[in-house]
Amino acid sequence: MNAPASVLVVGASAGGLAVAEALRREGYAGKLTLLGAERHLPYDRPPLSKKVLSGAWEADKARLRSEAELAKLDAELVLGDAAVHLDAAAREVTTASGRSLRAEVIVLATGLEPRRLPSQEGLSGVHVLRTVDETLALRADLLAGPRVVVVGDGVLGTEIAATARGMGLTVTVVGPQPAPMASQLGPVVGGYLARLHADHGVELRLGVAVSDLVGEGGRVRGVRLASGEVLPADVVVVAIGSRPAIGWLEGSGLRLADGIVCDSRCQAAEGVYAVGDVAFWHHEGLGTGLRLENRTNAVEQGMTVAANILGKDRPYTPVPYFWTDQFDAKIQVFGFLPSDAEVAIVEGDPARRQFVALYGSRGKVKGVLGWNMVKQTRQHRQHVVDGTAWTDAVGKAILVPR
Ligand SMILES: Cc1cc2nc3c(=O)[nH]c(=O)nc-3n(C[C@H](O)[C@H](O)[C@H](O)COP(=O)(O)OP(=O)(O)OC[C@H]3O[C@@H](n4cnc5c(N)ncnc54)[C@H](O)[C@@H]3O)c2cc1C
Repeated sequence: MNAPASVLVVGASAGGLAVAEALRREGYAGKLTLLGAERHLPYDRPPLSKKVLSGAWEADKARLRSEAELAKLDAELVLGDAAVHLDAAAREVTTASGRSLRAEVIVLATGLEPRRLPSQEGLSGVHVLRTVDETLALRADLLAGPRVVVVGDGVLGTEIAATARGMGLTVTVVGPQPAPMASQLGPVVGGYLARLHADHGVELRLGVAVSDLVGEGGRVRGVRLASGEVLPADVVVVAIGSRPAIGWLEGSGLRLADGIVCDSRCQAAEGVYAVGDVAFWHHEGLGTGLRLENRTNAVEQGMTVAANILGKDRPYTPVPYFWTDQFDAKIQVFGFLPSDAEVAIVEGDPARRQFVALYGSRGKVKGVLGWNMVKQTRQHRQHVVDGTAWTDAVGKAILVPR
């Protein structure tokens, strides 16, 4: 296939920018347009819940590229104008301001939008965190030294709790799981995370359901649990997960499910690709559909999509990777941590908060988790790539009871 005359990327953040940059690196000289709903130049999200929320970084430091670097990209940047409709067959996008943009190839990189509680509408003091504007609004409220309740015991909720606690605030995390991030890390390492938060003074209310938010005079005053108990709060952060930003694609002609459904080349329809948090693609290595919500995926998938746009015909078969920073812990995960996995500590010691754990299922290593052991964690990643037999990889290591 010859290179297309024009490429339009919808979503000007990590995934979208990765596609644009990879296209140029590969020598693409055609017309390139990046369309973004936010008015900001492309910025990075992981620092938002950490350095930007805490105030250690000015928001501008989270920018992915300088203006000079973006100028070199030789792309038209259309910012502050959301796509509201796609005609996949005609490869035409309509924007909120009424623009009509056509291109030979369209890449969809619109990420996620946070879920909300029905009772939060119209209440001040209630926040979600996905964008830089939302981060700065939350930070402004945190500076008043409030009692904070974080609704949500996943990665974002626990990161925000750690940051707010680091600012000296009174913080409670409330969520349905037996341990924070238990669905991602498993109950054992989730238990280590619970201890980390408790040791730093975060109050954990786990295994409980939230019924609604309590307000007074238009301002939030507390979080009501299903038991009827009300946790007093001046600020509430709702971190109960996100959904793919695909509402605007209804009627586009694309298949939509838990994301934009793509083939193994990340192609959703002829000349239409998806990348990053919004893409649900077929992972040939696993033989199943998959959608990943992590930073590394946005870039790796972006590079594969760029190669495929230029005719390379490359399946996307990554070993997933994500990390989270909470208090003094850097937790890194390569591969998958299945809920039925056996877990073995192969380096270090959880009591010293420095260890590497392997996760095995069906006789093979499926994932590796490192806690403050960056180099060693990376070394064990190879077991995931090779699908090393569980018994060979683990040897005499200590199996963690489930
Ligand atoms: C607070 C926070 C902390 C995180 N921390 C980590 C971490 O520690 N480690 C990790 O691995 N991952 C982390 N992530 C996840 C990581 O940031 C995402 O996986 C990554 O940003 C995905 O990139 P993306 O380009 O697919 O989507 P996004 O970064 O969400 O970008 C999508 C862009 O599309 C725009 N958009 C949406 N709809 C439209 C539309 N209709 N028209 C035009 N533009 C549109 C959005 O405004 C946005 O700019 C974090 C995410 C958040 C929110």
